[in-house]
Parts: sequence; C-alpha cells; structure tokens
Amino acid sequence: MLVLDGKIAAAAVKESLKIKTAQLAAEGKRKPHLAAILVGNNGASETYVASKVKNCEETGFASTLIRLADTIDEASLLSTIHELNSNPSIDGILVQLPLPKQISEQKVIEAIDPLKDVDGFHPINVGKLVQGLSTFIPATPYGIMLMLEHYKIETKGKHAIVIGRSNIVGRPMSILLSSNLKQGNCTVTICHSHTPNLKELCLQADIIVAALGRPGFVTADMVKPGAVIIDVGITRVDDSTAKKGFRIKGDVAYEEVATKASAITPVPGGVGLMTIAGLLKNTMQAYEQRADS
Ligand code: NAP
Repeated sequence: MLVLDGKIAAAAVKESLKIKTAQLAAEGKRKPHLAAILVGNNGASETYVASKVKNCEETGFASTLIRLADTIDEASLLSTIHELNSNPSIDGILVQLPLPKQISEQKVIEAIDPLKDVDGFHPINVGKLVQGLSTFIPATPYGIMLMLEHYKIETKGKHAIVIGRSNIVGRPMSILLSSNLKQGNCTVTICHSHTPNLKELCLQADIIVAALGRPGFVTADMVKPGAVIIDVGITRVDDSTAKKGFRIKGDVAYEEVATKASAITPVPGGVGLMTIAGLLKNTMQAYEQRADS
C-alpha cells in the first residue's frame, strides 16, 4: 500500500516554482504576488491563510495579507477587492471562505477579476474548466490532480466516485477526472446526500475521492480491494488529550481502509498540503499570463 504523501508531492511542486522565481529575480523581474483577504478571526481560516502566506514566502513569492473585521459590510469588502483588481503589482487574489452572514459569497467571488482569480471560483473560470479551456483550476482539485501525477496513479478508463458536489471540491473534481487529461479519462460517478446506494457504488470504484466533511465516513466495507483513496475531509473533532483540544479528522477511516487500498492520502499530511501547491501554481500562472499580456 502506497501512502500518497502530500509533504513530498507538494515539496516537488514548490521546488519547481522556487526555481522559476529565482530565475525571474536573476532577470531583474518582480516576484509573483498573492493578496489574501481574511475576514474575522475564525480559527480554521486563520490557520489556512497563515499557511498560504508562509508557503508564498518559502516559494519566493510576495504576499499581502489584508485582515478585515467580521463586522465589515459587503460594500467595503467589494471595494477592497476592486482596489486589488486594479493594483498592477498584485497577480492573485483570494478571499478566505466562509464569510460572515452579512456578505454574499457569490458577489465576492464574482467581484474578483477572473484573471486574478487564483482560487478558480469565478463563474467565467468555472465555465472554462467545464469546456476544457485553460483556466485557474480550484486549488483543492488541482492539488489532487498534481498528487495523482506525482505518484503516477493511472486513471485512464478507471471508475472514479466523487463523494460531495460542492463548487470548491466535488464538482470541479468530477469534471477534471472525467476530462481528457493525463490524470483524467475516468468514468465518474458523483454522489451527494441524496444518493441512496452509496456503499454499492463505492464498492465498484477504482478511485474514491471523499469530500463530504463527515469524519470516518468511508469505511473498509465500502472499498474494493486495490482502490485508490483520496481523502479531502478536514474536520476538527474535539479531543481533550490533544494539545489544541481538537484533532483533524478526514472523511476516511484511515486505519481500516488502508488495509484494502492500493494507495491512500493521510489526513493531515495529504490533500491539504496539495491545495496550497495548487494555489501557488495558480499564482504563478496568473503572474505569467499578466506578464505576457
Ligand atoms: P460542503 O460544501 O459542505 O459539501 C459537502 C458535500 O458532501 C455536499 O455535496 C453534500 O451533499 C455531500 N454530503 C454530505 N453528507 C453526505 C452523505 N452522508 N452522503 C453523501 N454525500 C454527502 O463541503 P466542501 O467545502 O466540499 O468540503 C468537504 C470537506 O472537505 C470538508 O471536510 C472540508 O473541510 C474539506 N476541505 C478540505 C480541503 C483541503 O484542502 N484538504 C479544501 C476544501 C475543503 P449535498 O450537496 O446533497 O448537501
């Protein structure tokens, strides 16, 4: 059984980006620059954004973190985004989700210039993804594709089950795996909370991508021997024995499923790290596209 190690696969992506950034510096060019907006002080969001900023720095990118109070009104947030859109030194913009109730996430997503939309959530970029055009692929599904590529997982002709149909993970994942790509060409079944025969479907799958946010949902009796298991889930589960008072749990019952799988991503240390790799790749892409235009 192969552990699909996000640390190793993400380090390889980061290393290639570091080399590119060093070349840019040697040519006297500016660095790719990511601006991240964090609204409020949700613990998980703080952790994600801090990690994104740290990874930018480690890769040689510039980063700007804009912190806004959770009481901010929608118009003020949109105006901050418009400023970043027109700032020529910014290549990529991300707004960490979720946002407070008074703000429409959809309006925020649509306010970001599609050419700077390194999260790949803007409807224009989603449309391009669906049509197989060059675009920003949402960071988590992109990271998973990079992971499959790094570990040379054969996907062509395989049956993949994606559990979850969100705009940020499940749906784009299903599109990528079914696309005519090196790590695509799967026959894909996308499942959600109204799928009645999930266990039977999973038992037919060569590849399972679990992205539902239910800790330990995928158990060994749902998995065909030799299947490839990608665990996207990240849930904080209370645990008084842990230093922080909680542990991060994936959507897969790792210990038991690992005994049946041919390859599996751990949580933590799997897809989460690849998500950042996907984001960094998108930021470099945004930089290069803007430099070319
Ligand atoms: P989401 O928006 O809540 O979507 C969850 C999806 O799972 C929905 O489509 C839902 O179906 C489906 N679902 C829920 N319960 C189900 C069940 N019992 N059986 C079948 N399907 C079920 O979540 P998300 O944003 O996609 O995130 C999913 C998980 O991935 C979360 O744990 C999140 O923290 C994690 N995540 C991780 C990363 C990373 O970098 N590793 C990035 C993003 C998200 P309906 O549509 O019918 O409601």
